[in-house]
Amino acid sequence: MRLRHVKNARELIEKHSNFILDHKREEPVDTSKFFSKEQPLHIEIGMGKGQFIYTLAKNNPEVNYIGIEKFDSAIVKALQKQLDSPLENLFLIRMDAIDLTELFEENSIDRIYLNFSDPWPKERHTKRRLTYKRFLAMYQKLLVPTGEVHFKTDNIDFFNYSVESVNEYPMNMHFLSYDLHQENVENIMTEFEEKFSKKGFKINKLIATFKEENNG
Ligand code: SAH
Repeated sequence: MRLRHVKNARELIEKHSNFILDHKREEPVDTSKFFSKEQPLHIEIGMGKGQFIYTLAKNNPEVNYIGIEKFDSAIVKALQKQLDSPLENLFLIRMDAIDLTELFEENSIDRIYLNFSDPWPKERHTKRRLTYKRFLAMYQKLLVPTGEVHFKTDNIDFFNYSVESVNEYPMNMHFLSYDLHQENVENIMTEFEEKFSKKGFKINKLIATFKEENNG
């Protein structure tokens, strides 16, 4: 995503700590204090400007949402939505997903959304893909045992890679579509989804859970 540098992004992030946390490494926080109600927690990793998670949070007040994004210039767009019309079940965190286990406790998340994550097409960058097995292992720790991973992308090579990664992990696949917009299911569009589907790209989606660990 090309984003113009937002001049006062840093200032905005620091000023609005009631809506957004700038996560510094090795600084654990109590994520329940972000919300007034104790209810299921769903997070989006790499939310970009936040259209998807803001809409979800608005439609589902019975769920708490955390939007995670590593770039200031993207996350301030999501922050702006919160400043314009605040939702008390939505909180934003500026951080790299690689540090998620520093911040969240095990078994503390009910659902993880990955939307149009960076595909990292080069073989030597495989480990950076958010559906690489190291990330899946992290999600397994963070999610409750029945917790779901929801993944959407227009990029068919990245999708095929992810289906394989999920099957090998092993996880259970609950939903698999190579043309989401033709399915009769509820769908909230992300910024990237609007852009790429307008260009004629089909949208792929999978939903999967982790197989129970066999601890003997
Ligand atoms: N989900 C949005 C944006 C997709 S672009 C949409 O569908 O419209 C992918 C986004 O993920 C970018 O904003 C990028 O900065 C963010 N991102 C990629 N890797 C990340 C990581 N490791 N941690 C946090 N955010 C990440």
